Amino acid sequence: MPIERTLILAKADAVARGLVGEILTRFERRGFTVIGLKLVQPTSATAKRHYAEHEGKPFFDGLVEYITCSPLVAFVLEGSDVIEGARAVIGATNPIKAAPGSIRGDFAQTIGRNLVHGSDSADSAAREIGIWFDESELLARPPALASWLIAS
Ligand code: UDP
Ligand code: MG
Repeated sequence: MPIERTLILAKADAVARGLVGEILTRFERRGFTVIGLKLVQPTSATAKRHYAEHEGKPFFDGLVEYITCSPLVAFVLEGSDVIEGARAVIGATNPIKAAPGSIRGDFAQTIGRNLVHGSDSADSAAREIGIWFDESELLARPPALASWLIAS
């Protein structure tokens, strides 16, 4: 049960629809801890860097436009297996296939407006956290609290 960190974005539609609090709550009530949080207006360069793996795909330009069209809320979660766990809380990429009870399954309709990003691997998490946060902006919870929340 490794303690990991992952990068979450509540994207433009989440901010526009007033769902940021709801989204944060879903991760917090699972026991994951927010250790960094900011409202950001991403530049096109930041968006392209974040989604570099998708460059050249048919949806890439629309994706960059989507996540740069208004401020988004970026946050870092810490917790046991949080990379996989946060992806489960978020749900499948296409909201129509996302399980009810997941964020996308409860609040989204289309793949082009699917509310949330979550890192998909340890390498992605490290790379993406570095794009959006300086290490000095991440405030780890005290070890005593961390161990109280997790028992294997
Ligand atoms: N996306 C899209 N059309 C597609 C596939 C992806 O608009 O056919 C967007 C969608 O916002 C998705 C993002 O590109 O969240 C990144 O795609 P990925 O496959 O990495 O999905 P995710 O990791 O967000 O579930
Ligand atoms: Mg992805």
